[in-house]
Amino acid sequence: MIDHATRAKRFNADEKKVNWHDETLWFVRHKRDLSSKGIPEWEQLRELAAAIKANVLSHLDEYLLEFEKNAIANGIQVHWAKNAEEHNQIVHQIIQKVKGKKVVKSKSMLTEECHLNEYLEERQIEVIDTDLGERIIQLSKEAPSHIVMPAIHMKKEEVGDLFHEKLGTPAGLYDPQLLTAAAREQLRFRFLQADVALTGVNFAIAETGGFVVCTNEGNADMGVHLAPVHIACMGIEKLIPKVEHLGVFLRLLARSATGQPITAYSSHFRTPRPGCEMHIVLVDNGRTELLGRPDFRKSLNCIRCGACMNTCPIYRRSGGHSYDYTIPGPIGSILSPNIDMRKHSSLPFASTLCGSCSDVCPVKIDIHTQLYKWRQIIAKEGHLPASKRWSMRMAGWLMAHPTLFRLSGKVGRRILSILPRQLVYGRWNEWGKAREMPPPPAQSFHDWYLNNRNNGKK
Ligand code: SF4
Repeated sequence: MIDHATRAKRFNADEKKVNWHDETLWFVRHKRDLSSKGIPEWEQLRELAAAIKANVLSHLDEYLLEFEKNAIANGIQVHWAKNAEEHNQIVHQIIQKVKGKKVVKSKSMLTEECHLNEYLEERQIEVIDTDLGERIIQLSKEAPSHIVMPAIHMKKEEVGDLFHEKLGTPAGLYDPQLLTAAAREQLRFRFLQADVALTGVNFAIAETGGFVVCTNEGNADMGVHLAPVHIACMGIEKLIPKVEHLGVFLRLLARSATGQPITAYSSHFRTPRPGCEMHIVLVDNGRTELLGRPDFRKSLNCIRCGACMNTCPIYRRSGGHSYDYTIPGPIGSILSPNIDMRKHSSLPFASTLCGSCSDVCPVKIDIHTQLYKWRQIIAKEGHLPASKRWSMRMAGWLMAHPTLFRLSGKVGRRILSILPRQLVYGRWNEWGKAREMPPPPAQSFHDWYLNNRNNGKK
């Protein structure tokens, strides 16, 4: 099992790219700051959003049933999936029923979470991602590295080379506008040929049984308006009680994600077009388990804006793929242990716990507190690497014996001052690879304090 630090090391091998990645995301964070400060009621909106979500989570069963009832009354076919496997089977069955062979998909983190593309492709169904970033990573056969900007880890030159290889654009064409035009031209046929259009759901409204999909490219709308069948896949936490709550979330989402005042397309879906089908798949996949963990249930507030990633110093300098989970960054690090604690045990440690993620989160998730709580659970469950487990145990034991602790400090300071540098900063010293220790002081703070607490009088 490869941990986060090892995967981050691979990303860090290209220092120039790491700096570029860091600066690009910081630029987005800065845009978010300007945009959020542009509305005086920002903090009130955050409070309101968190309160609405708290209400939804405490009455989730009722809101889900209300949503289902209203959606069915609108002519939408509602399906329930307890996990990723069931979700994929349901989507496949719908496609089979209409004898579909070609699917166009707009960005949906839930379908990424369920690995739907692979599932359908194995069953000879062509799935084309139509969001530009998603299309890029689909062509490069990679996973998204960010939830809002899935191909943010790729520079325009890399995209140009990829398009040259896969789409036949001229070699050396790196102009983003021309590359976008090439992708658009190629996608147009796919839209026209699609049997089924798949979308995610940003917000589902219990009181109306309708739902909203937000995109900046209009690709979701293009897909669902051309294909005769629309399948919308949503996690069960995406509910809001009433239409009047929508404005709160739409304002927070766009500003937090990209610094825009509003997403270019906030499309409302409520009923199928005449002669067409509309399906909605409600997916649990570990969400009710999270709901049952009081310390972590607030993570279900997430509206997937990506702001916590853009601000996180670890994410910006380690890249989304180092998390090895569909949702990377701080929020991914608290969601993933709920799915597989052993596999993702290193993620809650991929944080400085600086709290910047919690500060920017539009729905006020206490992300850094949850990261800290996961660390305690992971340690208790025995998922720490042996080296960390033993070193922490030894340190704990030493600190519980003050005389020994002071003696080891004295010996350590002495040894460090006489050991040759090559030995202290040898290959074994991971910590010392990027840092320099100050020269060891002549005395410990404890000794200094004893000598000085009475102005030098003992
Ligand atoms: S945890 Fe908060 S900041 Fe991070 S993606 Fe979710 S809503 Fe956005």
